[in-house]
Amino acid sequence: MSEKSDILIVGAGTAGTYLGWILAKQGHFVKIIEKDRKEEVGKRLDVIHFESDRIKKAGLPPFDPNKPDCIEIRDKSTVITPDFESEIKTRVYQTIVRLTPFLNKMYDILESDGVQLEFSTKFEELLFENNRIIGAKVSKDGENEKYYANIIVDASGTSAVVRTSLPKNYGVETWELGSDDVMYVLLQYIRWKVPDKPTPDTDTGYNYWLLWFGPSLGENEAILGVGQPGSYENARLAREDFLKQIDLPPYEIVKEERGFTPYRRPPYSLVADGFLCIGDAAAITYPFSGHGVTATWMLCMIAADVISEELSRGGYLTRERLWDINVRYFRDQGAKFASLLAQLSGVLNFTKKEWSYFLTHGLIYKTGENDELPEPNKEYEEDMSLGEMIKFIFKILGGLVIRKLSLRNIKKLLKANSLANTIKEHYENFPKSPEGFDAWINKAERLWKKKTVAVKKLDNIEIEYR
Ligand SMILES: Cc1cc2nc3c(=O)[nH]c(=O)nc-3n(C[C@H](O)[C@H](O)[C@H](O)COP(=O)(O)OP(=O)(O)OC[C@H]3O[C@@H](n4cnc5c(N)ncnc54)[C@H](O)[C@@H]3O)c2cc1C
Repeated sequence: MSEKSDILIVGAGTAGTYLGWILAKQGHFVKIIEKDRKEEVGKRLDVIHFESDRIKKAGLPPFDPNKPDCIEIRDKSTVITPDFESEIKTRVYQTIVRLTPFLNKMYDILESDGVQLEFSTKFEELLFENNRIIGAKVSKDGENEKYYANIIVDASGTSAVVRTSLPKNYGVETWELGSDDVMYVLLQYIRWKVPDKPTPDTDTGYNYWLLWFGPSLGENEAILGVGQPGSYENARLAREDFLKQIDLPPYEIVKEERGFTPYRRPPYSLVADGFLCIGDAAAITYPFSGHGVTATWMLCMIAADVISEELSRGGYLTRERLWDINVRYFRDQGAKFASLLAQLSGVLNFTKKEWSYFLTHGLIYKTGENDELPEPNKEYEEDMSLGEMIKFIFKILGGLVIRKLSLRNIKKLLKANSLANTIKEHYENFPKSPEGFDAWINKAERLWKKKTVAVKKLDNIEIEYR
């Protein structure tokens, strides 16, 4: 039988690695198991974007564009209207990272801080005593072993292998991600064939198609990305529709990547007796970008605080003792993300004409005057003053009068906004203890049922956002 660890984390992706690191720094015995070989982890994606302010907040060592794990640190991005007539500059703080070198850098740091990392080691099933989790059965080189821990963390990504294997009445939902719960993302690493011809700026979004050109590995290169729910085919068709309407200079495809990212609400509770889920396994992503890495680090910081304190008190880590993770997460970032997810169903209905109107009138991004770009809201919430709100309403009325906006879609937008506010308030009142949780869930279910399906009508396909 192996030594009992304080924390057993399943999955050495960006979520498990970060949580393991901050708990080990607080003096706890952390073991992380990862089914892939060390050289293979993270290989499914190469270039990935991290929100720079969140990197700082998470206390990670600063990135350096001269090092192999960082391509560049950016503070601007461009959005183009779907009629291709206007370009809007926005302030976005992004660090462009190479995933595998980043994870390998982190593994070295973790090991020097005492984390036990075991690669080629696969979670098989949970071990229980008196109906409570006490460990996991794992397989390694064809052998089965039993690992015991005070708490097991599911950081296994979209497969959520631990969460989905929980008994149905254990206190955390066991749903698997369906095709409407994710954004299917297609990435093409491209090289422009005629360097002198003008190309889209390095970081340019065409939000009508949920498509963008991002920074890539070399000069005259870019990543053409697109994400859509339902299927990879939907994403491919959205890209095809876009390519038919834009006049791009010739390019060749250097390599392609694909994957999916959660686009749904997380489980109502992230904790149960001896259990926590984080990362994609808990569907923690920024609703409007599908990015998940730094979003989950904010949850990990809360989780590490609570786990550390409870471990130092000794005894079994019950659901009640871990509950504060739910409270602190859902009352803050969880509430903001829930609200944004609800709001999106009002925005994604917009026609091309409506997107153009909203973008050019500063109704989606705050635009600055005299080339001064305003700071984005780093806390992901509505921060309109009364004056701004009045301007917003007048701009919408103006759009209706000149028929750039349809009354039908504006009604949907306002309904979605109102639901988003109610959902946010509900999450901000997440129950302080498991008592009252059932009633809280009942109301949350009723609210989520009110979220309507948005439909995007492209020339070659209609895509539903549920
Ligand atoms: C195409 C694409 C582009 C993206 N771009 C961005 C971006 O630019 N920025 C951003 O923030 N996010 C981005 N995301 C989302 C981001 O990749 C995820 O949110 C993030 O990787 C989730 O991290 P994680 O640690 O939860 O899961 P993962 O990174 O999936 O890690 C889970 C780990 O668990 C391991 N595992 C699974 N099953 C077992 C088992 N049985 N036993 C042991 N180990 C197991 C897996 O091998 C894996 O290494 C993108 C996603 C896609 C698909």
